[in-house]
Amino acid sequence: MRLEGKVALISGGARGMGAVEARMFAREGAKVGIADIREDAGRELAAEIGAAGGEAMFVNLDVTDERQWLEAVDAVMTAYGRLDILVNNAGIYRRANVEETSGADWDRMLDINGKGVFLGARSVVPAMRAGGGGSIVNISSVAGLIGSAGATAYNASKGAVRLLTKSLAVQYAAENIRVNSVHPGPIETDMLDLVFPEEGMREQRAVNIPIPRMGSPEDVAYGVLFLASDESSYMTGGELVIDGGLTAT
Ligand code: NAP
Repeated sequence: MRLEGKVALISGGARGMGAVEARMFAREGAKVGIADIREDAGRELAAEIGAAGGEAMFVNLDVTDERQWLEAVDAVMTAYGRLDILVNNAGIYRRANVEETSGADWDRMLDINGKGVFLGARSVVPAMRAGGGGSIVNISSVAGLIGSAGATAYNASKGAVRLLTKSLAVQYAAENIRVNSVHPGPIETDMLDLVFPEEGMREQRAVNIPIPRMGSPEDVAYGVLFLASDESSYMTGGELVIDGGLTAT
């Protein structure tokens, strides 16, 4: 198994891509902390993974709250004794151009999508250092690579994740803590209803993608698994683009 003996914490792990990663990580031998503001869904998923023979626990986490991060790391360390992997996956999306974005909208987006990743890294580093290293996988987006007409604060937040990743990678390489970012294109989760709110928008977008479909959460999870595992041991500060070729055009 590709994550045998490892312990992972996945923010926003109760549903969407995070939930698919939690299931996949558990199947590959990891013990998984599912961290989310959605307690019911998170507990159900942990039970489902347990029933399937894996190991998982739910921890309450609002990624904007440093105290909750420290409690989440403590809970995982107490239960499983180590922490090797953090997937900074929690995020929100809002379709709004610059004039439709209030200062409060901007703050909320940057707080969750940007500061949440910073606090996550800050909170797990001591545990990873104590265990001899680790892998932090930050979920950015193609919106962290290219601009779009109607996602001002989202673009800015995902761009911040891209460069924060490289900064952390440089800072922690010597301690065997690797940090990489993942840049998915449009992926079939509930978030996509916010990206393409009107009928026919997905189909219109898909025809302009070289692989002409939306991605699945599994398409992304396999990439996250690779970065989380020792298979990517010479990779840090990198960008894994999983977008059907969208940004290649
Ligand atoms: P999702 O289905 O909306 O799942 C995100 C999870 O994170 C939800 O359970 C959500 O709870 C939770 N969350 C939101 N705010 C949180 C907070 N402050 N603290 C802790 N958890 C919080 O989204 P997804 O599509 O799986 O997206 C996962 C990541 O991939 C995000 O960072 C997103 O920006 C990125 N991404 C998505 C796409 C896409 O097309 N889907 C493409 C590129 C990148 P609520 O449901 O209550 O908000």
